[in-house]
Amino acid sequence: MAANWQRGIMRLMRIENHETRVLEVEDFTPWYRRVTFAADTLLDGLETFPTLWLRLWVPNPSKGAGFLVQRGYTFVSVDHKRKRFSLDFVLHDVAGPAGDWAKMVAPNDRVEVALTPAKIDIPEGTHTLVLAGDATALPAINSWLESVPENVQTHVFIEEDHADREYLPMVQRERGTWLWVNRDGARGEALASAMRAAVPEQAGLYVWGAGEKTLVKNVRGVLREHLRLERGQYFTQFYWIEGKATG
Ligand SMILES: Cc1cc2nc3c(=O)[nH]c(=O)nc-3n(C[C@H](O)[C@H](O)[C@H](O)COP(=O)(O)OP(=O)(O)OC[C@H]3O[C@@H](n4cnc5c(N)ncnc54)[C@H](O)[C@@H]3O)c2cc1C
Repeated sequence: MAANWQRGIMRLMRIENHETRVLEVEDFTPWYRRVTFAADTLLDGLETFPTLWLRLWVPNPSKGAGFLVQRGYTFVSVDHKRKRFSLDFVLHDVAGPAGDWAKMVAPNDRVEVALTPAKIDIPEGTHTLVLAGDATALPAINSWLESVPENVQTHVFIEEDHADREYLPMVQRERGTWLWVNRDGARGEALASAMRAAVPEQAGLYVWGAGEKTLVKNVRGVLREHLRLERGQYFTQFYWIEGKATG
């Protein structure tokens, strides 16, 4: 069936869908929302690690009634004991199935999710961890900050223009800095300049970056040309593409 081909592929790959129920909705700003879910089976035996994300199945009414599409969202907390977890949503202005779903979400709404975990970790000997991205990467950045060893120095660089960005959730560490960068030019250009100015080439450095595609490309430029990092010393991922729907 043409409808829900993504679900067909995942079924073939034997990736299970789990039903969840919305428990709470909390707004940090009018455009950044935390949703807490009750998980029935999702968390059973789940190993958590920084940046762990799930696939949320949301309706895409523009493709017909009952048509579901998947979008990636990052766990911001996992409570195995109480069988609950939370996700943070950027409520972006441009319409999109997941953003629209999150704008309308209310307690007791039900939604299916699936997991395809790919474990990521910093290499042994890392003493400085640089985390870069936009607001969609903030949940993953906070998940890093909650779990890196105390002795690792962390530096966060986020390109985000909203004036109320100071109200966003920010995990603070003794050996950690946060730098918010205003966009200037193409996505990620100002972010890349800020990184070049603040981070010298050094041993023991690991960089993680995610967000909009052009932003991530600009970050990659810094990693390769300025910091001269080898593969294995960094990880970057496109989370979304400006002007283009996912999938
Ligand atoms: C591994 C992974 C983890 C992710 N974790 C998170 C997370 O924790 N929180 C989070 O908010 N996002 C996260 N994202 C990004 C999120 O999946 C995308 O933003 C996704 O495009 C949203 O889907 P949508 O249905 O709302 O919009 P789509 O249908 O994909 O796109 C519709 C339109 O909206 C635009 N758009 C999409 N996202 C944004 C945005 N953030 N800002 C402005 N315009 C946008 C697109 O460019 C397009 O024009 C993650 C993505 C991945 C791959």
